[in-house]
Amino acid sequence: MSKLEQRRPAASVPPTPHQEAPADLNIPDNYVQHTLKTTKPLPPVTWSTLLDNINWVSLLALTLSPSVAIYGMFTTHLCWKTAIFSVFWYFVTGLGITAGYHRLWAHRSYNASLPLQYALALAGAGAVQGSIKWWSRGHRAHHRYTDTDLDPYGAHHGLLWSHIGWMIIKPRRKPGVADCSDLNNNPLVRWQHQYYIWLLVLMAVIVPTVIPGVCWGDWKGGYFYAAAARLVFVHHSTFCVNSLAHWLGESPFDDKHTPRDHVLTALVTIGEGYHNFHHQFPMDYRNAIKWYQYDPTKWFITTMSFFGLASHLKAFPDNEVRKGQITMELKKIKAKADDLKWPTTSNDLPIITWDSFQEQSKTRPLILVAGFIHDVSSFMDEHPGGRHLLRKNIGKDATTAFFGGVYDHSNAAHNLLAMMRVGVLRGGLELESEKAIPPSQRLEVMRGQALAQLRAQVAKESHPVASRADSEVGDWGDIKGLPSPPLSTGALNSEDEATEECTGLNLTRQ
Ligand SMILES: [Zn+2]
Ligand SMILES: [Zn+2]
Repeated sequence: MSKLEQRRPAASVPPTPHQEAPADLNIPDNYVQHTLKTTKPLPPVTWSTLLDNINWVSLLALTLSPSVAIYGMFTTHLCWKTAIFSVFWYFVTGLGITAGYHRLWAHRSYNASLPLQYALALAGAGAVQGSIKWWSRGHRAHHRYTDTDLDPYGAHHGLLWSHIGWMIIKPRRKPGVADCSDLNNNPLVRWQHQYYIWLLVLMAVIVPTVIPGVCWGDWKGGYFYAAAARLVFVHHSTFCVNSLAHWLGESPFDDKHTPRDHVLTALVTIGEGYHNFHHQFPMDYRNAIKWYQYDPTKWFITTMSFFGLASHLKAFPDNEVRKGQITMELKKIKAKADDLKWPTTSNDLPIITWDSFQEQSKTRPLILVAGFIHDVSSFMDEHPGGRHLLRKNIGKDATTAFFGGVYDHSNAAHNLLAMMRVGVLRGGLELESEKAIPPSQRLEVMRGQALAQLRAQVAKESHPVASRADSEVGDWGDIKGLPSPPLSTGALNSEDEATEECTGLNLTRQ
């Protein structure tokens, strides 16, 4: 590995005895780029290589439960008690994933008491989605490498891939590194991982079959509905977090990546559908921040906290959450504003002298307002105050009249007027000093020092646009065939002073 490719590894810190070191302790700073560049993915799957690339264990697990459930639907009557229990067991095992695997272990968004941890670890095993350790490792990589090839269920590979494809087809790459040392050092997580298969059978099959069987004699209903059919729903509920939640809805907090917020996703995922928020604030115990949004997982954690079984519920400050929202709102407004046509700014308009303005006003209706020259020909008959008010201001400075002297115009009028700009009056107003320059002085040679003084004086007296007047004066842009206007600066107050200094070779303009 070249030095360039592996930048500044973090300082190696030895782990405490018996504690696993973080997996990402010594990765290079450019880990993602470096890994994608230096490791080759497996070749794409084709029809001829499909069978070799199927993950048969996952395929069996994901096809067996729906097959059993469908068989049960056609052969076994569903009694209402079993139906209610199946829904209840769906929520129990689903919360094992959402409140346990996801928000407690993968994101550490709150602390849970030991009884609650055991309950969630057991419930999560009943959802048949792997152990806490395996599940959290993949999920942490998903958050860390969202929409890259190091994301184990990257949404950029399509809806089907992120929903189920990534489990059925052998992955083309290993997921990116994600530290799970906290989980590996957690005895309960290790216990659940070690006995996972037994816990799975207990919680996914035995308990949901035995409870309806013992309590109301519906063993078959328990097996087909509370175990098999319920499992299909729990599976696809969680899978929707990887697929639907990265595809359907809005991005109210950030649109850099694919996660989206949508109530429909929330409904089918026990409240995990506000996924745009979740990817922005993954350590927040909430997915939904509004009271009326559907997030039963948040309600469950809050209830557990009320009973003293959960604590240290992490919530990002509202101020920070709102920053993200406002950024996105501004982005939308900016996109709308970019669709509109805006007036030409003073930087893009020609700077015109008063004389030139007067000259042109004889051939077309030009009116000066606030330093800008406007061609109002298209508006003569549309002016609500009448044509005569515009006509009498042609070739004049109508600033006072426009700003309330005659009528205090509306914002819409200001906007409309700005669209009629054709030039900027040099100095912003009629400069008496301009008239004082005799024609002989319009061709002038002067010292650099004197020129600088004149420039400073002009800047002080005039409108800010005058700062570029020296080089651009008289360029009407679309007005052709006009004689060049006078060019020496109008701030030349003393002819004698200028004459005295006419010894240098700085030609101001011809
Ligand atoms: Zn996600
Ligand atoms: Zn997450």
